[in-house]
Amino acid sequence: MAEPPIVVIGAGIGGLAAALALAHAGRRVAVVERAPRIEEVGAGLQISPNAGRILQDFGLGPAMREAALEPQALRIRRAGDGAVLASLPLAAVRDRWGAPFRVFHRADLQKLLLDEALRAGVEVATGLRCGVMEQDAAGVRLGLVSEAGAETRAAEAVIGADGLRSTIRDALRLRPNDAPIASGKTAWRAILPAASLPAPLRERASQLWLGPSAHVVHYPLRDAAIVSAVAILDDTADTGAPAETRSGAELAAAMGFPRWNAELRALIEAGASWRRWPLFVRPELPRWGRGRVALLGDAAHPMTPFLAQGAAQAIEDAAALGRAVAGAGSLEAALDAYQSARMVRATQVQRGSWRQGGIVHLSGPAAAARDLSIRLLGGRGMLARNAWLYR
Ligand SMILES: Cc1cc2nc3c(=O)[nH]c(=O)nc-3n(C[C@H](O)[C@H](O)[C@H](O)COP(=O)(O)OP(=O)(O)OC[C@H]3O[C@@H](n4cnc5c(N)ncnc54)[C@H](O)[C@@H]3O)c2cc1C
Repeated sequence: MAEPPIVVIGAGIGGLAAALALAHAGRRVAVVERAPRIEEVGAGLQISPNAGRILQDFGLGPAMREAALEPQALRIRRAGDGAVLASLPLAAVRDRWGAPFRVFHRADLQKLLLDEALRAGVEVATGLRCGVMEQDAAGVRLGLVSEAGAETRAAEAVIGADGLRSTIRDALRLRPNDAPIASGKTAWRAILPAASLPAPLRERASQLWLGPSAHVVHYPLRDAAIVSAVAILDDTADTGAPAETRSGAELAAAMGFPRWNAELRALIEAGASWRRWPLFVRPELPRWGRGRVALLGDAAHPMTPFLAQGAAQAIEDAAALGRAVAGAGSLEAALDAYQSARMVRATQVQRGSWRQGGIVHLSGPAAAARDLSIRLLGGRGMLARNAWLYR
């Protein structure tokens, strides 16, 4: 009888990248996704060169040229008066770090990964939720539930790429007190038709607006026909699950407008429906797996989005997993090697993202000091500060 496959739980960016890396390493791979269809939330995703290089190595370079947009600059602006504090020359990123700075509609990147995984022979099952996972000396068994009923499936190994509220992480019990923790910040996301925005907001550049206790990021997608926007607010009362939506006028009121710049106000008000996304983290783990089971992406190291690295780190995980499994030795040894290769780096980025959340939401004299240091560093200096992430 054929060996059971390595089963990846979750077909997010992390799970699909992992499936592809494992298939490239010569393994039989199956992906199990609970959603009935593989479709990411309607939002944008910035893919920095550290992850872009890996996706190029996966053979996705030509497809990414079609699907992604390469912003030429990142303008950091003061939300109050709209002043540009620095303009980072993103066009220089490709020469320096081997891949451009790309922005995607999430669904477009997910489809690229899915198509490539299917081409590489990965089996993908949707509408199938992993409810239970057990392992012993004989191997790993998964309890899977679909509309048709429950089934048990054997796996050669399991990669838990099932996101922040990972079932596999819970089943592994890697530490006490491991529940998700509300970060005290809530994101509001919208996709806006570019035609509805003032001309300066339609350029092929990303913009980051810094305001007291809040910030806004937006960038164009799909040949600049639409704009992805995220507004993140300090909100210690919000501990709920994502669901609620607000109109632009309601969100503008919650953000303390009309104190803010008119261009920024126009952006917020152009969103017919902003979707609430409370941000959670989880405690750092002493290890990411046990035996033939390992975690990857948000399941292992969920992070706040202030360095735009959650998906990038999941892609780095996938590449390291593929390398470890392609190397000699047992699968247990390969999964240990994968964790050793990744835990320090991913934890640094997780901590760095948390610190960055404090910096972007400063107010009063501390914000003025931050803005002055951004001006003094300038666009090139600010870009150079990200070298530890991008190289
Ligand atoms: C506002 C915001 C902006 C962000 N911006 C960026 C950015 O610009 N750049 C960047 O790199 N990162 C960004 N991130 C982070 C990024 O979105 C995540 O880190 C990344 O999507 C995690 O991918 P994942 O595959 O690990 O998990 P997920 O995307 O959560 O995927 C998990 C998958 O597992 C499935 N699943 C869950 N449980 C089960 C189960 N029991 N059985 C079967 N399937 C299951 C889910 O349905 C889902 O499809 C941002 C995050 C937020 C909130």
